[in-house]
Amino acid sequence: MSEAAQDGETGYRLMMRRRFRNLFDALEDLIAFVASMLKAWKQPPGRLPLYQTALVLQVARAHNAAAGVVILAERGFGELAMSICRLLGEAMVSAHWMSLQPDARAAQFRRFGELERLELGDLLKELGQLKDDEMPVWYKDPINVAKLKGEFPDKSGWMQRPMGKVIKDVARLWHTAEARRDFLDTMKILHLTGDRHSHIGASDTVQFHGDHGVALGPTESAPTWGAQALKQATWCYLELVDLAVKELKLLDVAVWTDVLHRTMARISWLRRAQVEGLKPDSPCPCNSTLLYGQCHEGVDLHPADD
Ligand SMILES: [Zn+2]
Repeated sequence: MSEAAQDGETGYRLMMRRRFRNLFDALEDLIAFVASMLKAWKQPPGRLPLYQTALVLQVARAHNAAAGVVILAERGFGELAMSICRLLGEAMVSAHWMSLQPDARAAQFRRFGELERLELGDLLKELGQLKDDEMPVWYKDPINVAKLKGEFPDKSGWMQRPMGKVIKDVARLWHTAEARRDFLDTMKILHLTGDRHSHIGASDTVQFHGDHGVALGPTESAPTWGAQALKQATWCYLELVDLAVKELKLLDVAVWTDVLHRTMARISWLRRAQVEGLKPDSPCPCNSTLLYGQCHEGVDLHPADD
């Protein structure tokens, strides 16, 4: 166990905050910004179309997931934070995939939600927590149920396509080569961590103490995973909100574009050569428009320079 972990929870949290302040600050500022944006937003008169409703729901879900990443990363559960990032990543990919054929895919998304509700009802009945007569009438019609199940022969989710193909479909929505590379790298990381670390990594976080039981606590690799999770979470969240801003006209696109670029700068790693001789009141070389002392000063450098 590392020294930092032995200092106890408070010591660990302060250490994480210090080493990765730029990542924590960027994600927390973004969470607050999106919350204020959603609060101030005036819905268009009449009902929102199905696709726009689904998009708002995706952003709301991502909002909670991003806040969860901050807490897990700060407390040393870096591997678990990465698993939540997979949820964030999937919300982002599915929203983009839906945007390619908005109405038809939003309808499919809603139908899958109905199927999940039906399956949940079946499970609760099996567990004896729900009686037959408590099921909604709609779910008692065998023709309706068979039709609904027939729409999703593959159990993998509402998209009904292997994730690799979906990723290929949406990659073209990232207009620059650099953005596409970021997207594909992120998907690679999230898949690796989702597959390996939601199971193995989570148990790595469990530390055994004598014969008496287990305790949850930070591990040696948690700071690295925590920082990685904060970076991926910010990126996924930004991309999803970017889509929502443009589709729902949540606010002036120019204002949003400024926030987007500054946040991307803040979550970048700096190299040693870029920071040598800088004073706290120098402009930060990451181009966030913040002062060095408010941005990248004292935080971990690019892993190659560590
Ligand atoms: Zn900076």
